Amino acid sequence: MTTYPASDLISGALGNISPPARVAVFGDPVAHSRSPAFHNAALRAAGIDASYVAIHVTPTELADALRALPDQGFLGTNLTIPHKTAVLPLLDAIDPAAQTIGAVNTVSVQDGQLTGFNTDGPGFLRAIREEFSVDVRDLRILIFGAGGGAGRAIAVQCALEGCERLVLVNRTVEKARALATELEPLFRTERLAGPSDRLQTIPHDLAAIRAQLESIDLVVNATSIGMKRTDPALVPEALLAPSLLVYDTVYATGRSRLVEDAISAGARAANGLSMLLHQGALSFEIWFDRPAPLAEMRAALASGFA
Ligand code: NAP
Repeated sequence: MTTYPASDLISGALGNISPPARVAVFGDPVAHSRSPAFHNAALRAAGIDASYVAIHVTPTELADALRALPDQGFLGTNLTIPHKTAVLPLLDAIDPAAQTIGAVNTVSVQDGQLTGFNTDGPGFLRAIREEFSVDVRDLRILIFGAGGGAGRAIAVQCALEGCERLVLVNRTVEKARALATELEPLFRTERLAGPSDRLQTIPHDLAAIRAQLESIDLVVNATSIGMKRTDPALVPEALLAPSLLVYDTVYATGRSRLVEDAISAGARAANGLSMLLHQGALSFEIWFDRPAPLAEMRAALASGFA
């Protein structure tokens, strides 16, 4: 995959690409991104005469690269590490859910204006529906890594959906506590259980986790544990009951140890490929205002992991 420097975007040198570059991902690093493969498959399948390009944008280049988008005829861009939060003050408008999440992974260009969205949270919702045929709002959910970027997006989305119960777990527990304070107003409803029962924060501690798992339906791993094959187990297999749904946002290693342990315990489990797919499909829908060709995107993603 070709990676272009930000200077090529800013100077107009990307104008020579065919089909013309109209959407992108900005990151630092960006060469590892799976997005060009499945977005270009989507563009081909939809018959759109446009390319999706990976652009290496450093933090100091971000403002100029964003401002070059309308000038160079781009419809938008995705943002990955380390730009998802830094981009907020550089945009003309921010979607309310992205504002609450505090991070933007999709920028849309319309009439020269840059609007920020977050498709990670909604992509997670679609992934859970697809993998387990359930809606997040009906579930009692425990999120590991609730203080990180993905964990925060997922926690906010679950709270916005009005899930039955939300337990935030984070190694640095203060980050999860701060998030719980932000989310608490979303749990003040007329349901029978009060906010303190429905929203809880616990440290990444075995005894605390064990006590919570008895009243949980869905366990989500949004930590970086599992990205390497040699990583320790996130949860001891003995704690994974057959009644649990387990979603591991990690997709780098295919079937992660958590997914394998959950399946061998009799639980239903899936890895983060479906979330990756659906956050990308939602970006496509924002830019092109039509449904994304999911089958082709899914096939392109799967071939990258074959
Ligand atoms: P991040 O912002 O750096 O957050 C990392 C999280 O992992 C933090 O909560 C951190 O806790 C926790 N953590 C790291 N090492 C840990 C350890 N040894 N024990 C316990 N907790 C640990 O990273 P991110 O961008 O959110 O990514 C997190 C995961 O989400 C990654 O595995 C990534 O692959 C996945 N992800 C998947 C998708 C998808 O579409 N499927 C999208 C985005 C991210 P502290 O706060 O204590 O440091």
